Amino acid sequence: MSYIENVLEQLEQKNPGQPEFIQAASEVLNSLKPVFERHPEFEQAALLERITEPERVVMFRVPWVDDNGNVQVNRGMRVEYNSAIGPYKGGLRLHPSVNLGIIKFLGFEQIFKNALTTLPMGGGKGGSDFDPKGKSDMEVMRFCQSFMTELCKHIGPNTDVPAGDIGTGAREIGYMFGQYKRIRNEFTGVLTGKGLEWGGSCTRTEATGYGLVYIVNEYLKSKGENFDGKTVTISGSGNVAIYAVQKAQQLGAKVVTVSDSTGWVYDKNGIDVALLQQIKEQERGRISEYAERKSGVEYHEGRGVWQIPCDIALPCATQNELLIDDAKQLIANGCKIVAEGANMPTTLEATQELQQNGVVFLPGKAANAGGVAVSGLEMSQNSERLSWTCEEVDAKLKTIMKNIFAQIDSAAKEYDCEGDYVKGANIAGFMKVAKAMMAQGIV
Ligand code: GLU
Repeated sequence: MSYIENVLEQLEQKNPGQPEFIQAASEVLNSLKPVFERHPEFEQAALLERITEPERVVMFRVPWVDDNGNVQVNRGMRVEYNSAIGPYKGGLRLHPSVNLGIIKFLGFEQIFKNALTTLPMGGGKGGSDFDPKGKSDMEVMRFCQSFMTELCKHIGPNTDVPAGDIGTGAREIGYMFGQYKRIRNEFTGVLTGKGLEWGGSCTRTEATGYGLVYIVNEYLKSKGENFDGKTVTISGSGNVAIYAVQKAQQLGAKVVTVSDSTGWVYDKNGIDVALLQQIKEQERGRISEYAERKSGVEYHEGRGVWQIPCDIALPCATQNELLIDDAKQLIANGCKIVAEGANMPTTLEATQELQQNGVVFLPGKAANAGGVAVSGLEMSQNSERLSWTCEEVDAKLKTIMKNIFAQIDSAAKEYDCEGDYVKGANIAGFMKVAKAMMAQGIV
């Protein structure tokens, strides 16, 4: 049995009931075979055993009182995965599906994603099974304050800097920041995704969606093409999806779908971003309302955006939302590019199916790195106590996405798998962290 197979087998034994974590780890480790052939010193240093084991996991009780005076208890956690190249960095997911396996998969991916941004950030992730949907603002505030009362003991601007993810937006970051500042009596850049008036960065909200479109554009440019006239399907309707729709349309594409956990819409005339923002950002409403307010739009319950013919598909909802049958349908409909705006939205077998049938596949850890990249820029602005203009941040984001594409493209070429951006991203991200870990000794 090879070193990599052996480590994967041990991982499965040690982490029962964590299928998403095993999925993410298998994809990365299986990509690294050629790296370990060239670098036997990595095996001697037990690099894979170390990199798959989080440096620290904190799990804690989050008690809060709902509007009816009832005591509620949620579970909070933070996985501080790897600090070889910088403070732990990554979002906080608030969703009923959150468990340790999900947060570990996200934290593990974050290590390599953050390395690809070229900024000094380690990998971490956290969250809770608390569901902000259907809760009042005061309930969300009480939850966030209780969550931060414990979390503040473990984080800091040079230690661990959380941010948003599914269920954690500007409102939640605000309540958490307020509580951190109150307990520590410190105004520091301990969280990113802050409001623009109190230390946030311009373009942070848009960054993941914009970055996704920028990296696809880099690929298109390398083939002498662009977005003009292309049909794009997008899943999700959170900040990643909304700003991917906006940027793709600014570049001349027509985006025809968006979705949420209840259903999806097909708008053959192109999604109206202002209406989408009104429903999702202002009203926190359902996507069915989009079809109710705009004529000529189809609404369907359940899932189904991948059956709509497109040139480019951008899954921006959540993990494992693009399955093998969806991949087959996309191929049959002539889709040329799939780029992941969400974290691990494509299953392993769907990814393989797409790649084997000539669909260009840009994996999340490269394609959705724009969000955490601008978080890194927010940290820089907080350190120098300045705030940069939107033009400056957007220009830096573009440069970072261009650079990520160059890194994953050249790593794939260097390791004889040209055009395989899954391997390219895993190898390029891993090499940076591996070199840092080797230099820092057995820690
Ligand atoms: N949650 C985002 C991600 O998956 C952003 C994390 C951050 O800004 O720290 O990368």
